[in-house]
Amino acid sequence: MTPADLEFDQRHIWHPYTSMTHPLPCYPVESAQGVELVLADGRKLVDGMSSWWAAIHGYNHPQLNQAAISQIGKMSHVMFGGITHPSAIALARQLVEMTPAGLECAFLADSGSVAVEVALKMAMQYWQAKGEKRQRLLTLRNGYHGDTFGAMAVCDPQNSMHSLYQGYLPEHLFAPAPQSRFGDNWDETDITPFAEMLQQHHRDIAAVVLEPIVQGAGGMRIYHPTYLQRVRALCDEYGVLLIADEIATGFGRTGKLFACDHAQISPDIMCLGKALTGGYMTLSATLTTRHVANTISDGEAGCFMHGPTFMGNPLACAVASASLSLLAENRWQGQVAAIEAQLRDELMALKSHPAVADVRVLGAIGVVEMRQPVNMATLQKHFVEQGVWIRPFGKLIYLMPPYIISADQLSQLTGAISRALN
Ligand code: PMP
Repeated sequence: MTPADLEFDQRHIWHPYTSMTHPLPCYPVESAQGVELVLADGRKLVDGMSSWWAAIHGYNHPQLNQAAISQIGKMSHVMFGGITHPSAIALARQLVEMTPAGLECAFLADSGSVAVEVALKMAMQYWQAKGEKRQRLLTLRNGYHGDTFGAMAVCDPQNSMHSLYQGYLPEHLFAPAPQSRFGDNWDETDITPFAEMLQQHHRDIAAVVLEPIVQGAGGMRIYHPTYLQRVRALCDEYGVLLIADEIATGFGRTGKLFACDHAQISPDIMCLGKALTGGYMTLSATLTTRHVANTISDGEAGCFMHGPTFMGNPLACAVASASLSLLAENRWQGQVAAIEAQLRDELMALKSHPAVADVRVLGAIGVVEMRQPVNMATLQKHFVEQGVWIRPFGKLIYLMPPYIISADQLSQLTGAISRALN
């Protein structure tokens, strides 16, 4: 990559949440291998982000590469309307088998946000089929579910998207974010506001939508599994559907295969994405129960009204299936437990630092919450100089490394954070 390439990038290419007039610096990455990103100048960075929760097995993985190559040799894509193929069937078999009990019918779409749109549409069509007009959703403050319109409408209302898009977004109901922390004592009053909202509005509510156990982009908050159990019981009591957005938490990240497993609950609809393909390419799955699927299918429309061009893309399905086979070898449990123990050892010590408000660890997730928002560009530069890739946002400096990270590499990440504080 030449300086002219980078200049072109700044002038012509949007990056996530960036400005065209004041673009933030971008680091040119030419390849990635294992837990390392390789910059154009040859420097190697230990990756603390798994490319936003996705690259759980690391980069350039021989089995995932092989799955992609052998699928390309057959076909990269074929329409899913009226056609099926072995990779979609293999993937759906694995998903139905590994996800919480009762989730039997899979919709394979393009991205996490689309998986959320699909889930919301399933809930809306479910109630339409039952002849009830339920069009509101109940969700939690500090949630994040994606950037498309339906998903945005259930993201935390304090962030700019709601004020920016006021008038375009449907107005849903927001319960306070859970306060009881994972690992602390459960406080029964924590569920009261949610229970009251559900009691008051349940006749209008199609579904409850939440991120189980870990609220990600809305604050990296880790809450008590009993909260989730209470939500499930209340949804059952009032006959409201429960949608679990496991796009970030799915596939072992929290120490359980799915975050719902911490509470031993099954949602009515579950959204998966990100790590589904081991971070190779975009693909998502929305799973639901036979009951929800049948109700939708027997409704007025006679079908579920969604069908994207790249639905069930064979290339993505083949890699996803290979990634789930790697998970089935069950090394992830030991790897994630070791990462959790080391993150506790090395990050918890930072809790007493005057600039630090809180430190939280669960599974292969470590969060250092600062008292003040950080300067992302300055801190990012510091991290790159230290040979690590960590991208903070707001007040949060956090790690979610590939599961294959070594103890030494993980210490490089935590060491760079601790040096950044000083
Ligand atoms: N839900 C959650 C919990 C997420 O973390 C994200 C992505 N950060 C999404 C949905 C949206 O996924 P995508 O970016 O693939 O559209």
